Parts: sequence; C-alpha cells; structure tokens
Amino acid sequence: MSIETSIASLTDQPYPYQRVELVEPDWTRFPGWKDVTAAEWESVQWQRSHCIKTLKQMRELLGDLVDERFYEDLERDQAQRATMSMLVPPQMINTMAPHAEPAGPGSLTEAFYNDPVRHYMLPVFSDRRTDWPSHPHATRDSLHEQDMWVAEGLTHRYPTKVLAELLPTCPQYCGHCTRMDIVGNSTPTVSKLKFAGKPVDRIDAMMDYLRRTPSVRDVVVSGGDVANMPWPRLEDFLTRTLEVENIRDIRLATKALMGLPQHWLQDEVRAGMERVATIARRRGVSIAIHTHVNHANSVTPLVAKASSAMLETGIRDVRNQGVLLDGVNADPHALLDLCFRLLDGAQIMPYYFYMCDMIPYSEHWRVSVADAQRLQHHMMGYLPGFATPRIVCDVPFVGKRWVHQLAEYDQMRGISGWTKNYRTSIETEDSGALSRTYQYYDPIHTLPPEGQKWWAEHSDLDESSLKAAEMAEASRRTAALQAY
Ligand code: SF4
Repeated sequence: MSIETSIASLTDQPYPYQRVELVEPDWTRFPGWKDVTAAEWESVQWQRSHCIKTLKQMRELLGDLVDERFYEDLERDQAQRATMSMLVPPQMINTMAPHAEPAGPGSLTEAFYNDPVRHYMLPVFSDRRTDWPSHPHATRDSLHEQDMWVAEGLTHRYPTKVLAELLPTCPQYCGHCTRMDIVGNSTPTVSKLKFAGKPVDRIDAMMDYLRRTPSVRDVVVSGGDVANMPWPRLEDFLTRTLEVENIRDIRLATKALMGLPQHWLQDEVRAGMERVATIARRRGVSIAIHTHVNHANSVTPLVAKASSAMLETGIRDVRNQGVLLDGVNADPHALLDLCFRLLDGAQIMPYYFYMCDMIPYSEHWRVSVADAQRLQHHMMGYLPGFATPRIVCDVPFVGKRWVHQLAEYDQMRGISGWTKNYRTSIETEDSGALSRTYQYYDPIHTLPPEGQKWWAEHSDLDESSLKAAEMAEASRRTAALQAY
C-alpha cells in the first residue's frame, strides 16, 4: 500500500496530509527550451544568461502556447503598475503551469493566468485591483528601514539585531518586494534610489558599527539577495563579521536557494561556505540560510539538493520566510502543502509567513489581519511545533508582531493597532514609544460596505489629515460604545 493510499483510508481530517515526491518539471515542454540539456539546466551560467527579462524573451520561450492577450496584459502591467522590473530565472519559470500539457495555440493561457508562482513573479495588469490598486497609506519604504539606517544600508530596528543590505540586486525580482524602493532596476512607475557610498566603504562603515555596538548580537545579511554578491566578497564580509566578538547569530537571506539553486551548488560556493561554517562552529556562532519560498510547486529536487549541500557544509539550518499572498498561498491547504514539501522534501524549516507590506499596487496580494489569524488557526497542530510557522505582520515603526498580538482592531475600517516592548534606534529619546499604538491597514476591498465608504470619503486627505480623521472616528466609536 502506498503512503497516499494508507493515509487516505486512515484520516478524515480537514487537511489530508500526503507525502509527495519532489519532481523537476520537464522544461522541454516550452518551445524555447526544447533542446536544453540537463547539463545546461544545472549550469548556473546557463540559468543566469537565460533569465526572462523582457516580453520578447517571454514570447520566444512560450510562443503561441499563450494567447496574445496574456502578453499584452503583462506588457501593460510593466508599463503602468509594476514596482519591480521583470527578471525570472528559468528554474522559476519552469515551476509555472507545471502540470498543464501544451496542446497547440493558446493551450497554456489559462494555466499561466491561474498559476500561483506566475501570480507574484510575473504580475499582469488584470491581476491588480482597479477600485483600490494602492492603499492610501501605501509608501515606497513602507517599513521605514532607511529612517533607521545607522550606516548606509544597515537598519537597526530591534534592540539586538541589525539588517545589513549589502547590495541592491537579486537573481530574481518578486512583484511584491518590500524593498522595491531600492532593490532592482527602475520601472516606468518607480525610480529606484541608489546607495550613495561605494560598496567597500559601506561595508567598512557597517563593520565599524557592529564593533562599537556590543548590544547587537545578530546580523541578517541581505540585499537584495546575497547570491548576487561575488563569493569572495561575501566570504570576506562573513569572515570579518565572525571576528566581531558580540556577533552570535548570522543569517544569510537568499531567495536564490529556490530561484537559482544552481548558484548554491557551485563548488566554489560550497567550499567557501564550509570554511565559513567551520569558523562559526569554532567560535560558537550560529550561521543559517533564510530563503523565501511562497508555493509548494517551487520546491523541486534541485532546491532540495541545494539545501542539502548547504546543510552539509555545517551551517546550523536552512529556514523559510514566505510571504502571505492572495492568489498564491493564502489558503490553509496551500500553506500546509508548502510547509510539508519544505520540511519532508528539502530539509528547510518553515519559520515565518509575513503579511504583504503596504507598498504601492499591492492590494490584490494583501489579506486582512482577520484572514491571517484564521490561516494561522488552520495551520496549528499539523506540523511539528518547531516547524509551525508564525504568520507575522511587519508593522511600520514596530517590526514583526505575531498576528494574534494586536492591541485593538477596528474591522469596519480595517485598522489594527499594535504596541511594542522596545525602542527602535530612532526612538532613544522618545518617552511615548512604548505606550503608543501603531497602525496597520487591511486592504479596503476586503472591508464591509460601511468601511469602504469611509475610505472613499477620506482617501483624498493628506497623510496627517487622514490620520486625524482616523483618530476622530476611533474616539467617536469609543464614546458610542461607552454610552451603550
Ligand atoms: S528576492 Fe527578496 S529582495 Fe529580491 S526581489 Fe524578491 S523579495 Fe525583493
């Protein structure tokens, strides 16, 4: 009896767990890759040089398997909405519409429109909301990371940890990227900011801050994606960081472990990571990789191989921080499928799902806090406790809060209030920082009619007048409740 059959007959649970064998979808199903060999596919150089960056390349790959309306939809989005330019490695494209059989002109159109990975890597204009494409409070640097830079690219938000943005590029660009302000190429909608300092000077300034700030013990090394940093430079940064006595945890952020696993399978990278892991172990420092996988279909044998190669170097762990996205994974079965695929198939620890941040044009991806709470409820109890991810809301000026941690919630207008128990680096003199309530906003299209009407009447106000109107409404509601 197979695992699938035995489980089907034994369980009657809302989520029917099934162990699934990982499969690399057949890339030769796409006309543009019909002659690509396995050796080419596993070459990082081939993958990088065949990334899809333009509509022309997309047409050459899929030809008439996808209707013209899809290409036009994609082109219109790039011109009018996209906050990230197009950049998708073949490895990721190959996980789109993995089960659809090409059968002549237009045969993959619906499969591409409905595909969860396509939905966030290649957004099309018709995906986006037309009523509320952006929330009135949406901003470019929605988490205010730059306000908290203590050196250019070094964000000090939490008491004991910092985020080091080493570079502004990635091997793949995700439509919902929270660092859309600075990561990637400019698009017709967004002119990207540029780091002012030279990379070498920025890194020196970061190292200097780490050395003179003993309260910092934890460095998230990010970008961008560290897979885009030449290995010798990344190894030099890690080795220098490991020399700082107060640093006890290092986490390397790389979506490329999934998007371009071929990078992490290179001999140079494996040997280099082994050297770094050996120093870390000797010093009693934990070094881990944090990747970003949003859908079970992305977990293929090559991803599992890259994860296993990294664990063999002696690093402590490979963990996943996904993003909760409507149309991609905002469903209990999709989240559990992903977590089990990561855990059983690729030894990747499910860790967090972030709610999508309030950047421009992200409303069609975002879900309400109430929905996030429901999803968290449905995930509990299936995975081992240590592998049950928390769904967290990254609240502006606060940081990560578990979705059940909110202090107040006006579900009619979709305004949640959150408090915090630490000061960020810009609040050392702020006596109200720990008693203040900070806001996060649900997507307006998910609100009841009365709430949508309130936003329609107030969304033209400037930021401070809008905040004042929100507070006045909250006071009115509190008074009405007390009178009742
Ligand atoms: S990999 Fe991360 S930093 Fe790069 S585009 Fe995607 S979300 Fe942004």
